[in-house]
Amino acid sequence: MPTVAFLGLGAIGTPMARHLAAADLGLRIWNRTAAKAAAFSAEHRAIHALTPAAAADGADVVITCLPVSADVESLCDGPDGLLATLRSGSVLVDCTSGDPATSRRLAARCAAQAVAFLDAPVSGGVAGAEQAALTVMVGGDAAVLERVRPVLAVFGKKIVHCGGVGAGDAVKAVNNALLALHLWSTAEGLAALTQAGVRPEVALDVINTSSGRSNASMNLFPERVLTRAFPRTFRLALLDKDVGIAAGVAREQKVAAPMLQLTAELFRAAHVALGEEADHVEVVKWVERLTGTVIE
Ligand code: NDP
Repeated sequence: MPTVAFLGLGAIGTPMARHLAAADLGLRIWNRTAAKAAAFSAEHRAIHALTPAAAADGADVVITCLPVSADVESLCDGPDGLLATLRSGSVLVDCTSGDPATSRRLAARCAAQAVAFLDAPVSGGVAGAEQAALTVMVGGDAAVLERVRPVLAVFGKKIVHCGGVGAGDAVKAVNNALLALHLWSTAEGLAALTQAGVRPEVALDVINTSSGRSNASMNLFPERVLTRAFPRTFRLALLDKDVGIAAGVAREQKVAAPMLQLTAELFRAAHVALGEEADHVEVVKWVERLTGTVIE
């Protein structure tokens, strides 16, 4: 197996890195807050790298998982950056839910030193990452994907080649825009039904065996909204970013997409109102405030 480096021990990156550490890949770990990487390497079979360059030095596959593509780009530069040590023939796999334009720019910079680049965002949430059951959607050269597939299979259950560089990012953004739409519209519908005297669990019982069901209605509302648990697993700020990328893809392709554009506006407003640390499902609290209704 190739040697691997992983950068970005966030909510989803940490369980992904745990599986890689258990897979005996000579794993090297870097995180912006060094204490997290130190704690991780004390607990798992991984070496704590003090800089991105030290993480990438000698690695065959370098995996990044940061909030936005611009963060990945900023890790590339300077004497401590990834591009200082990424060697010819290695592969940079970006698992960030990124934006296609930045991924294409990153791919070009990597290609200039014979390094391959794949955008490889993931879906399945923190629970999917913990179970090594993520879906990985990949943009870039299909032959390069085949080379790194055994590494991605350590945390991914379904690995799909979507097209050229940026195609993985685009698919991920549209998927998450659908998640956002379902969250918002299910909240509006349940608020209306609550006001009409129908209990939300009764409405969900019907919807979840009918044609209006979604991951939001089947899982997120029963487990997180009706219980008022609202656990923090995926920040609203990141979902806002994803919907913005989907709206941007539609604009770039000159596809009229009023629902995507409106969803992007609504999620930007909710993100600003609820702050950086709010979970994505907390957008329901924002709809509750707008409608004067609590869904419980
Ligand atoms: P988090 O906000 O939990 O973690 C972000 C990670 O990136 C942390 O390790 C943080 O370091 C690091 N980081 C933040 N800014 C920078 C920067 N400027 N330079 C270097 N490192 C930085 O994010 P998630 O783990 O939730 O998400 C990561 C990516 O995965 C995102 O693109 C997200 O959209 C996507 N994703 C997330 C899912 C989820 O359920 N959480 C599901 C599917 C995809 P530090 O420790 O120093 O703060």
